[in-house]
Amino acid sequence: MHKQNRRRFLRNMAALPAAWMANKVLITGVFPSSLEGANHHRSAMKKSSYRPGYIDMHESGELKVRSEILFEKMRRCTLCPRDCETDRLSGQRGDCNANGDLEVSSISAHFGEEEELVGRNGSGTVFFTNCSLLCVFCINYDVSQLGHGQKYNILQLANMMLALQKNGCHNINVVTPTHYIPHILMALDRAVPDGLHIPLVYNTSGWEKIDILALLDGIVDVYLSDFKYADAEAADTYSPGAKSYPELTQKALLEMHRQVGTAKPDPDTGLINKGLMIRHLVMPENVIRSDKVIKWVASNLPKDTYINIMSQYTPMFKAHDYPEISRRITRSEYNEVVRIAREEGLTNLRQQMR
Ligand code: SF4
Repeated sequence: MHKQNRRRFLRNMAALPAAWMANKVLITGVFPSSLEGANHHRSAMKKSSYRPGYIDMHESGELKVRSEILFEKMRRCTLCPRDCETDRLSGQRGDCNANGDLEVSSISAHFGEEEELVGRNGSGTVFFTNCSLLCVFCINYDVSQLGHGQKYNILQLANMMLALQKNGCHNINVVTPTHYIPHILMALDRAVPDGLHIPLVYNTSGWEKIDILALLDGIVDVYLSDFKYADAEAADTYSPGAKSYPELTQKALLEMHRQVGTAKPDPDTGLINKGLMIRHLVMPENVIRSDKVIKWVASNLPKDTYINIMSQYTPMFKAHDYPEISRRITRSEYNEVVRIAREEGLTNLRQQMR
């Protein structure tokens, strides 16, 4: 790592400004009031013997090495497929609106994720500010594209991960992580000596580069990945500049599966600690070609691949500028995607609308 930037990072990590106290309020403030009850029941849950891969990577020193390789990539940033080559370390903001500072929107025990990640006590969600995919219909556009959030340093993020674990969360779920991968790995490396031991869930749009994913091999336990578009024109229209989405996401899903395999629940807890989980959000008029998404999964991944077919599309942000996606989906549009999935022999479906 470049000496000057390294010094700046270490200085940031050593400082615990007033924001840290604010963060403490943030994290305790968002835990549900039922957490006490959840803690009461926790003793009844069987313990998982699962050991996340990042612990060994920390012990061998590899986690630190990889975090530094990724950190250096921010100098002419190529962390996501936009490859905008912005010098984030000098403070410039890339196409994703991120500079070298870590910005986080919220940290909480989240109960809205898939039940195999939520369990009794929630998924320990870290919601990052900014995003590389820039969807015109993003429901979280204030965070992903309007920059809502606050700065954290690496030590603060590490302590937040530990706090989520201490409060019973079953995993650390990093949401929209691509542009902050270096920071996440550095925080993990700081948190392991203090006892972090729950699985790392990499919650991504799916638009990822293979060379970056390769640096996460052995570190990420669960890939929770969208597969949004199978049509390049639709990808370019609704996520401007992301025409490569179908091609790159297909390659990324194969790499993710190579690394972690098919998601299977832990026999003791019912929770998923390792594997690939796919989400597909059905949109109006089949503009994104859900049929091709499903058929690709069925043809290229095991038939028992976990796939959550989501129905909650809501036209938000700039969606009303596109008449064809300015409404919610119909029941028959949703059922048609499920029908195709069944016809293709996919056996591990999660459905939301029946
Ligand atoms: S992560 Fe952001 S800064 Fe880096 S290449 Fe992508 S858009 Fe550019």
